[in-house]
Amino acid sequence: MVYQADDNRYKTMKYNRTGRSGLLLPAISLGLWHNFGGVDTYENGRAMLRRAFDLGITHFDLANNYGPPAGSAEEMFGQMLKTDFAPYRDEMIISSKAGYYMWPGPYGEWGSRKYLIASLDQSLKRMGLDYVDIFYSHRPDPNTPLEETMGALDTIVRQGKALYVGISSYSAEQTAEAIEIMNRLGTPLVIHQPNYSMFNRWIEDGLQNVLEDNGVGSIAFCPLAQGLLTNKYLNGVPEESRAAKSTGALQENQVTAEVVGKVQKLNAIAAERGQSLAQMALAWVLRGEKVTSALIGASKVSQIEENVKALDNLHFTDEELMLIENILNK
Ligand code: NDP
Repeated sequence: MVYQADDNRYKTMKYNRTGRSGLLLPAISLGLWHNFGGVDTYENGRAMLRRAFDLGITHFDLANNYGPPAGSAEEMFGQMLKTDFAPYRDEMIISSKAGYYMWPGPYGEWGSRKYLIASLDQSLKRMGLDYVDIFYSHRPDPNTPLEETMGALDTIVRQGKALYVGISSYSAEQTAEAIEIMNRLGTPLVIHQPNYSMFNRWIEDGLQNVLEDNGVGSIAFCPLAQGLLTNKYLNGVPEESRAAKSTGALQENQVTAEVVGKVQKLNAIAAERGQSLAQMALAWVLRGEKVTSALIGASKVSQIEENVKALDNLHFTDEELMLIENILNK
């Protein structure tokens, strides 16, 4: 059936400004790392994209290597763009990245000019796009001068292949340096994509200050710690879960008794707030408006519907924050 986007799609989503840029991102964005690859069910991915867009999720995050196999998420997404979203391209923010291993030989990973530009060209072909909205250096490269990696991002914007550029998983110090280089080149860094959740708080130790001081936005990946911060693993590892899948990045041995103990306690606080744990975990990432967007993954339409409802209650009392802090610090 021909897809017709919901007329009410902009009524309930919240849009946040990305740092001091002109770019507004939905408070909840959808990533295609899992569940959109060649090994996955095409129609399920398609239903999730449609529902997400109908709920006001305008931002879809990809990378060259998403699948498996690597590249297949961009191919699947490209197909869906063609059949369903062609009329809506200007309502969408599509991102891709390069940094991890993509092809053999010395030019298929890390941060050289050669790799970044070749990889983006491949991504554009796979998705059938002329440009992406955001392109990221996916990880810092210890052996390539930062000037070169940032120079490649600058070139990519000047060539019109990306509208904005960002970095992912760079430390506070590397980020400060990258910001300085990009400002000098005249193509400011707009966004940082770090891992951030109740279970991974490294950005609070310096990076958030660097971003705030320089007017750079942030989009938190794995805000649900790959599903640990939901009610999914409260009673073991269900068959239908990332931890049970051979292609999932979450290992069964990460679902420890200690983790489940914390999750149970957090779940009780969420219930007091009238939220599911997933909703509270997303609200927590977005608390204080420091993070521009929480970048979720999903394996089912119903998860997206549940997660978007996090926006109904983003407020935390001091007492709630303290209770959460005590659980996380134990
Ligand atoms: P999350 O932490 O949001 O985990 C998503 C997974 O949690 C889902 O696939 C699902 O897994 C489970 N889940 C989600 N909602 C619910 C719910 N309401 N109830 C129960 N279970 C739920 O994020 P991801 O780890 O998927 O990462 C999100 C995105 O971040 C990626 O797609 C990618 O775009 C980006 N990313 C970027 C990285 C980088 O280096 N820049 C690295 C990693 C991710 P299940 O299959 O068990 O149902």
